[in-house]
Amino acid sequence: MSKAAIGIDIGGTKISVTLGTEKGKILAEKRFSTPLYAQAKKAHEILNDIIADFLKIAKLKNLRVIGIGIGLPGAVNDRSGKVPYSPNMPGWENLPLKNKIKKRFRLPVISANDANAAACAEKFFGTAKNNSDFVYITVSTGIGSGVFVNGKLVEGAGFSAGEIGHISVVDNGNRCGCGRIGCLEAQSSGTAIAKIYSKLTGRKVAGAKDVSDASVRGDAKAKQAFEMAGNDFGAGLAIVMNVLNPELIVLGGGVFNSPSELFLKRAMKRCEELAWSPAFKSCQVKKSILKGHVGDLGALSIVFLNSKL
Ligand SMILES: [Zn+2]
Repeated sequence: MSKAAIGIDIGGTKISVTLGTEKGKILAEKRFSTPLYAQAKKAHEILNDIIADFLKIAKLKNLRVIGIGIGLPGAVNDRSGKVPYSPNMPGWENLPLKNKIKKRFRLPVISANDANAAACAEKFFGTAKNNSDFVYITVSTGIGSGVFVNGKLVEGAGFSAGEIGHISVVDNGNRCGCGRIGCLEAQSSGTAIAKIYSKLTGRKVAGAKDVSDASVRGDAKAKQAFEMAGNDFGAGLAIVMNVLNPELIVLGGGVFNSPSELFLKRAMKRCEELAWSPAFKSCQVKKSILKGHVGDLGALSIVFLNSKL
């Protein structure tokens, strides 16, 4: 009987539930809008119905489901099993989601921060399969990361290791969502790129995708926005290299799907200027091959990785 897992990827706008194999093949998938406020308390009921359906599908396909993985934003403490605070998910804080699912199905249930789960996906399915010291960094609306040292995910004392989005990289920089100034997320995320472009042109744009489209059309200000954001991102990369000396940094998230290479080129140039040379030289930087599926694969991979420990 081949092994399978059920993955639950919880975000501020949608929740995705998947049934997947150890090879990363998705066999069933269901998405729904994230219930918020009072409705959040009933999320486990919707999830339990979907899980029950997926267990039936697995049985028909002769697959053994070895566990359920949950990827969540925030400082996830798997031992407490409670949903941590997340600014985009009102009503979810402290919900005992893991235990409610565990009680119903009597299967191992593992929860992890979503960026950490994505790093696990890179380790189990992706670019970092053969690496034991690597960092996964996602640049999309925000910036997050997951850190592997000696083949193990680093969680930190308060479960917030890898929060590189809030490393301060610029004095007198942009105001971050966390309230501070010059955080990497405020300088280089997709949201930041859109804000920089709006400031340069006076035109409002919805997100980094619009800036990317403008840069493809040859818009010089769009190119400048990517370069400015990339420059600060390079400072963040250099800090990561100097502290951890990873053998590999995997880059994921929407900003790296942009056809423009300006962001990454500028980032690497700045990184080389700032990083300790032996750390820079021993670190490869690669784009993720998992693209849009990283959330689903992350939630699945925490189950498979855990079963191998
Ligand atoms: Zn911040």
